[in-house]
Amino acid sequence: MHSLPSDTPLWQLTPRVETYRDPAPPELDLIILGGGVAGLCTAWHATRMGIRTMVLEAQELASRASGRNDGQVLLGLGEHLNRLVGQWGHEDAMVLWRFIEENHRGIAKVIHDEEIDCSYQEQGGLRLAETPQEWKELIKTSALMDQEGILHQLVNSEELQTLLPLARGFRGALFLGGEAIFDPRAFVLGLASSASTDGLAIRENCPVMNLRGEMGDFIVEVEDGQRFRSLVVVHATSALCPSLDRSGFLARSLFPFRGQILATRELPDAVVQRMPAWAMSSNFCYEYFRMHGKRLTLGGMRWNVRGEESGMTDDSLVNPEITGHLLAWLQTHFPLIASEVENRGTERVWTGIMAGTPDGLPLVGEIPGHHGEFTCLGFNGYGMSLAWLAGQSVAEMIQDGRTSHRGSGLFRADRFLDEPGLPHR
Ligand SMILES: Cc1cc2nc3c(=O)[nH]c(=O)nc-3n(C[C@H](O)[C@H](O)[C@H](O)COP(=O)(O)OP(=O)(O)OC[C@H]3O[C@@H](n4cnc5c(N)ncnc54)[C@H](O)[C@@H]3O)c2cc1C
Repeated sequence: MHSLPSDTPLWQLTPRVETYRDPAPPELDLIILGGGVAGLCTAWHATRMGIRTMVLEAQELASRASGRNDGQVLLGLGEHLNRLVGQWGHEDAMVLWRFIEENHRGIAKVIHDEEIDCSYQEQGGLRLAETPQEWKELIKTSALMDQEGILHQLVNSEELQTLLPLARGFRGALFLGGEAIFDPRAFVLGLASSASTDGLAIRENCPVMNLRGEMGDFIVEVEDGQRFRSLVVVHATSALCPSLDRSGFLARSLFPFRGQILATRELPDAVVQRMPAWAMSSNFCYEYFRMHGKRLTLGGMRWNVRGEESGMTDDSLVNPEITGHLLAWLQTHFPLIASEVENRGTERVWTGIMAGTPDGLPLVGEIPGHHGEFTCLGFNGYGMSLAWLAGQSVAEMIQDGRTSHRGSGLFRADRFLDEPGLPHR
């Protein structure tokens, strides 16, 4: 008999040291709606630039997607580089790639400088091919990476048996040295603690109910009836953004969807020693997995159920059909780990909601026609790859009216204005 899995994410088991209930400073330049990774990255940079900032979070910091994901800090997005080039053209794909690399360096630096204890391990990542087609695409990607001087290693199926001896049924893989894994909630809490000592005000358990006013005098009304005023606001509310967006633009440009992860119980040492601490994925990142201590986490499989979990905003529910597909995937690709799970059950299974965009890139900048109202959201499944630098870009736009990061040009919200095929309300 399997024991019942819990639906609390692994990362949220660590008790909190402090809950933020800061009083509002007498004068505020910026209010950030939402305390996930996007909100806190923006807040960290803004505070460092001397922008007087407050974060308002409905629940606890990192209680939604930012504390429910797999903690993989990837170079690139789910699509392999050859597909990014196909979608964006060579030049823009490389701008995007360099943005993500810089984001990654920024994350590593802040974790180091601020001594953020978030189990950060930068040992690399492996994109595995399940099909001959994906293997061909990895070979193309490798050629592109050679051209661009991106360090990587193409691994054929025989070599894979040495590198990842418990894996079965993969055609080959691409190894990227710079990828990392961490505890994503601990990262967000670390940013909060660091920025808080620099003067950032944070209020948790403080749902924002309404937003009024305009550039220079926004009025933010929260659940207990209090009102806060600021010169500008940033929407960092991810999948829940439509409820506070007066323009209707965000509801038309983004869609919510839900992802699911399972975590095994602690695995025997003989298994753990043969599983490296890499960020790993297969099937164009639709399935993703990693070790956290002695446990394996495995997510994905939403493509395998009707509706692909699109439109979902409830992260308190787990889809048992997806759990079944994840266990079947484990049986096919890591049979030794599957037999451990068969004998002892999974430890926990949880879900998280994300904000998707039609082109897979976030919305970073002003809402068209709404001056002073910025967004830092729509990170699809890749917030850890983008949010650090996206947050810096927004803070720069607020401070100087422009950002130094060229990649942010790809994230402008006005790319969705009048685009045919966009979902309308
Ligand atoms: C299962 C799963 C696996 C994933 N794996 C990875 C991965 O390995 N690597 C990676 O890079 N990305 C991954 N992601 C994606 C990543 O988690 C997201 O891109 C990222 O966390 C988005 O951050 P965010 O701050 O925009 O959103 P969130 O973390 O959802 O934060 C939004 C916040 O806004 C708050 N909020 C909403 N409405 C209000 C309101 N009215 N008032 C106040 N606050 C409000 C919410 O409570 C929430 O805390 C994964 C996501 C999931 C669900």
